[in-house]
Amino acid sequence: MKNLDTICVQGGYTPKSGEPRVTPIVQSTTYYYEKAGEMADLFDLKADGYFYTRLANPTVDVFEKKLTALDGGVMGIATASGMSATLLAVLNVCNAGDNVVASRAIYGGSYNLFSVTLPKYGIECRFFDPDDTKENIERLVDDKTKIIFAETIANPTIVVLDFEKLADIAKRNKVLFMVDNTLVTPVLCRPLDFGANVVIYSSSKYLDGHAVALGGVIIDGGNFDFKATDRYKEFLVPDESYHGLIYADLGKTAFGVKCRVQMMRDLGAIMSPQNAFLTNLGMETLALRMERHSENARKVAQFLSTHPKVEWILHPSLESNKYHDIAMKYMPKGQGGMMSFGVKGGKDKASEFMEKLEMIAIVTHVADARSCVLHPASTTHRQLSTSDLEAIGIKENLIRLSVGIENPEDIINDIKQALDAI
Ligand SMILES: *Cc1c(COP(=O)(O)O)cnc(C)c1O
Repeated sequence: MKNLDTICVQGGYTPKSGEPRVTPIVQSTTYYYEKAGEMADLFDLKADGYFYTRLANPTVDVFEKKLTALDGGVMGIATASGMSATLLAVLNVCNAGDNVVASRAIYGGSYNLFSVTLPKYGIECRFFDPDDTKENIERLVDDKTKIIFAETIANPTIVVLDFEKLADIAKRNKVLFMVDNTLVTPVLCRPLDFGANVVIYSSSKYLDGHAVALGGVIIDGGNFDFKATDRYKEFLVPDESYHGLIYADLGKTAFGVKCRVQMMRDLGAIMSPQNAFLTNLGMETLALRMERHSENARKVAQFLSTHPKVEWILHPSLESNKYHDIAMKYMPKGQGGMMSFGVKGGKDKASEFMEKLEMIAIVTHVADARSCVLHPASTTHRQLSTSDLEAIGIKENLIRLSVGIENPEDIINDIKQALDAI
């Protein structure tokens, strides 16, 4: 199995003779062993196996293995949500006094985590403008910087990540490069191929694809040498809470094992077996869906770009888009279904347009099979003033459109009749 569309269908699970063909849901917190010694070997990481579902579960395991294979990583850790994936990945390397250097163009929840919540625990975040020069961004990195963080395609500003620029900074300074790849998925772009060390997902979006299961994943790329720098001292000294384990001695899986045996043990935000089952099922069609999402979005973007009532439109498939060349370099097969655009006439016209839509629904979610829209200025970001919104790149007439996998003609016709009606 080497092609990504095959791994989507068959990856992670190979039944033995007589076992269920479909990944079973192992709805058990606990696992039985005949001898105490067997359990002791598990605790000592001498043997592979399950002892408690907070640390690992066979259904969750299948999902983690499939996504790890898709991304080309060495280990995956599934979490209760995308937010807990980001939190655990950050806490795995950051202590009070450390800092994260992050793009300003990131998901609102991650922005709040970095700008409000983590500082309360002494972890500082330094934001950069993703269009800024390499030199200016690198100036933010100091000896307390543990992570450089960005999104492949940012939600909802549709900024496309210039991997090379950030990977160079990360490599030169021997800092972990962490990428949230939620809106693209490994089917369209594998961040590890372009210098990322850790990949984060909210599996609640395209991976599940049907808006039924909340979840997140941390993929350890296994390509960061914790012994080549003294930046991550915690990886070089024995963990007394895990009988003296030195994580850097584990080599490629240092980040992932620490994340599981220390972070998951203490913070406990694991994905449930039910959600792993549903997400894994959804992922069987991921390659097909991403192709259709991208193709539909390309058509919708083309339509919007020529409509007289549309003031501006952002989708990297458009040749006029600022990030078109970068997108062609890193995700030539497609750029997913997320776009944003502005209708002429400001905030009120934007709300009016949304209400005129018939098939496309107004929801907070994005990136599932059904087309949907959101007007951040009157919903998710309504507490912000116009100038606050502009500062994070959100215009007040911005409409976020997540193009689904319906027939593109029906999607375009719905948008067309709503635009005609305002
Ligand atoms: C939704 C989202 C998250 C947060 O994920 P949840 O599963 O909702 O916790 C993080 N990053 C991106 C890019 C997202 O779109």
